[in-house]
Amino acid sequence: MRLSERITGLTGSRGDGWGLFLRARAMIAAGTEVVELTIGEHDIATPPAILAAMDRAARGGHTGYAPVPGTEALRDTVAARAAARTGIATGRENVLITPGGQAALFAAHAAVCDAGDAALFIDPYYATYPGTIRAVGAKPVAVAARAEDGFQPDAAALGAALEAAGARARSLLINTPNNPTGVIYTRDTLEAIARLCARHDLWLISDEVYDSQVWQGSHLSPRALAGMAGRTLVVGSMSKSHAMTGSRIGWIVGPQEAIAHLTALATHTTYGVPGYIQEAALFALEQGAALEAEIAAPFARRREIVMEMAAAQNTVRMLPSEGTMYAMLDVSATGMSGADFAEALLERAHIAVMPGASFGRAARHHVRVALTVEDTLLRDAFARLLEFAAMRAREKATGPAAG
Ligand code: PMP
Repeated sequence: MRLSERITGLTGSRGDGWGLFLRARAMIAAGTEVVELTIGEHDIATPPAILAAMDRAARGGHTGYAPVPGTEALRDTVAARAAARTGIATGRENVLITPGGQAALFAAHAAVCDAGDAALFIDPYYATYPGTIRAVGAKPVAVAARAEDGFQPDAAALGAALEAAGARARSLLINTPNNPTGVIYTRDTLEAIARLCARHDLWLISDEVYDSQVWQGSHLSPRALAGMAGRTLVVGSMSKSHAMTGSRIGWIVGPQEAIAHLTALATHTTYGVPGYIQEAALFALEQGAALEAEIAAPFARRREIVMEMAAAQNTVRMLPSEGTMYAMLDVSATGMSGADFAEALLERAHIAVMPGASFGRAARHHVRVALTVEDTLLRDAFARLLEFAAMRAREKATGPAAG
């Protein structure tokens, strides 16, 4: 039977970028020991206190349909968190609770793009972005941020892409702190983006799911910039901040009118998020910044470990990693693309990292290392990765060793 082009064309000709990850999982299933530094998932389970709150809520009766936009208490708490971080007045009418940040990304694009509209995003990007945009019938337009610019988006390149898209340009999706690069966008970058949004009458969709993982400098939500609250939809999530990836809970913060329509969309798609999950999220957020810092701490520590190790050699260049649970490595000195490097590292050393190309063309000379295994294992795997890179770089210079 015929399926819709929207579904069959969802991942595009490049695939969805998860090929190496799936191969690593297949090797593990077949009994091979592989160090997995691929997806952004904590090596701890959701903290016991949050699970206890979930259990209390479920046993206490929160097992029926929950309010579709989210409970008032949870929306108030998310609103207060957003207001405290932006200085922008935010109430429950500005908040929709969603089944994770991914559903929020989909809903946000559905809210602002009509079929055929151009939806811009920055390359390197989180692997689902183009498919999410295609899923709402819009056209994904990637705009490269260059490694030479430290992967800060380039206003001139964005301006040119907007001119080319003309009146069809509807939205720009950005992500800071950034997956995969670990870069945090500067105030200058965000102000330039805000000016472009005003000039081209764009919606800004701001993916801030890593806002609790900031190691250097500070995170600025573009919703806080002058004139932006009325045209910004902020995507948030409990996945990274509270190790709740499997609970599927996140949110959109935005203008009241947009949230009202998004609530209608939720009624016709997800019908909300389970009440006991919402109660657990409420409990977690009520613990405040201390719990978020505790959950982020292992990544801060591991970032220091790999930065120090990377600084002690000169084959692989590591980006500064200002935030997130990732380290981004330029492996071009090996003479290999990021994809070939990741393949060979998996084959030879049984270490799985993500090829930069999974996140777009701009990162094709890179691999992304998730700092998601305990410190000793990470130290050992990272040492082996660096050794492997050094060996490949030597072979490139002298030709492979005989025999
Ligand atoms: N945005 C970014 C940048 C991500 O890295 C992820 C998950 N890795 C998401 C959104 C979606 O996260 P979730 O649906 O678990 O909230």
